[in-house]
Amino acid sequence: MVEVTFLGTGGAFASGRRTNVALLVEAPDFRLLVETGPTIVHQLARVNRRAVDINWLFVSHLHGDHSLGFPMLALNRVDAPTPLHVYAGHTTVRTLKELWRIVYPGLDDLRLNLQYHELSEVEQEQVVLQEGVTMTTSLVPSPPGVPTLAARWELDGLVIVFATDTVPNDTVVELAHGADLLIHEASFSAVLQPGYEPNAHFHTTAQQAGEIARRAECRIVALIHLNPLASRHPDVLVEEARGDTDLRVIVPEDGERIRCEGGSCVADEKGPVIENPRGERK
Ligand SMILES: [Zn+2]
Repeated sequence: MVEVTFLGTGGAFASGRRTNVALLVEAPDFRLLVETGPTIVHQLARVNRRAVDINWLFVSHLHGDHSLGFPMLALNRVDAPTPLHVYAGHTTVRTLKELWRIVYPGLDDLRLNLQYHELSEVEQEQVVLQEGVTMTTSLVPSPPGVPTLAARWELDGLVIVFATDTVPNDTVVELAHGADLLIHEASFSAVLQPGYEPNAHFHTTAQQAGEIARRAECRIVALIHLNPLASRHPDVLVEEARGDTDLRVIVPEDGERIRCEGGSCVADEKGPVIENPRGERK
């Protein structure tokens, strides 16, 4: 069984409802954290997880809403008995190390039990995280100086793909092909913000995220990295992404999780079962 917990579902700008995007992908003996925004240790605590419980970390890029909590995550790992494997592009790894050095100068990072793994910021790369778990990463369109990676994880017969802070592009369509769950940014809404040009800011609308999911033949698309306005109207985003198709679209709230069993995240004809942080189903 694999569980995907949406620790945070918001973008860079403050919203009372959603914190910065972060995910937890868990299977027996496997716990992967995706992104370390400013409040990551509190996001973990909210779902009863600690920094020392995490074995693997993937950070897509260096922007603060994805990286600034890294020193806090690291600090909360002092004398951790098992290593945390940190995977990111080499520019991002350099930033994470710098962040630690700047905010906790003089503290010996050997006590944090961190192992850094630099991913290519040019070519697609596939790594085996542990037996039965692979991660494939690709560079996606991103601002100059901010190389951003999308990731595909294959485990327990499932394919989960994560893409954020980018414009619609063929790389993500290829990476996400046949995914059981595509977790894609939808920073903006074409319906609620028709005058906004998300591509100019390396972002995507819910409508575009839906198109990507259909082109990639994904079973479910979860929309994340929502801006404060769009985040208050999840029903609009679902309709916008679905269009007049039967694509399954979800807009998870912070702390909600999807349980994937038997190689599928789709529980029945209604789609996935979503639980809130108290374990209640909706
Ligand atoms: Zn972001």
